Amino acid sequence: MNIAGFVKTSFVDYPGKIASVIFTQGCNLRCSYCHNFSLIDKNDGSTSILPEEILKFLAKRKGMIDAVVVSGGEPTLQKNLATFIRKLKYRGFLVKLDTNGTNPDHLRALLDHNLLDFVAMDLKAPLSKYEQVTGTSCLGLSSVLESVEIIKSCKIAHEFRTTLCPELGADDIASLIIDFEIDANYVVQSCRSTERKKVSRNQQDLERLTQWSQQNLSFSFRGFEVV
Ligand code: SF4
Repeated sequence: MNIAGFVKTSFVDYPGKIASVIFTQGCNLRCSYCHNFSLIDKNDGSTSILPEEILKFLAKRKGMIDAVVVSGGEPTLQKNLATFIRKLKYRGFLVKLDTNGTNPDHLRALLDHNLLDFVAMDLKAPLSKYEQVTGTSCLGLSSVLESVEIIKSCKIAHEFRTTLCPELGADDIASLIIDFEIDANYVVQSCRSTERKKVSRNQQDLERLTQWSQQNLSFSFRGFEVV
């Protein structure tokens, strides 16, 4: 495990639970709005934190921390992820995985071994814009679609979420919902790195999305000031 960041206590990353959050190093996407750009290079070990240090901290906080969120970067790129999660589960913590859904085999294996309690998958864009938003031309969209199906059919808590980045408008969210056949557990979240000029455009999109969400499209919002 190459762990680059650790948040000791979070009240927002695992619904209804107090969680610690770890950020793994390395990502196979290059999203234009990425807030964790320093985590993308898989060979960067400059801020490396030993898994043992995290387990030691969690042991001291047992009873105060309910869950551990494994985020990134892209956690499913980590070879020893299952071993690390098993240690968390053995110590009694709930585990949530944040993933971009590009490694369905790894995701399926974690679920098959009952290592996850919650999965959150990013849906970056409608299929026609996926490469543009992720900055990745060699992306296998079939892998993303496969992960969506795995998560839809899994028995654990899950959510799909899309960041309303500058490349996306309200129509793209509607297309995405159709492309991935999303009918529940879907969140549209704000883009923290959106420039001021583009915020106003997104505000109009937001108003349209709010109308749709009150009509027939089923999703909720996160991180917007006015919804
Ligand atoms: S998938 Fe996440 S970590 Fe990877 S580039 Fe996109 S926003 Fe950044």
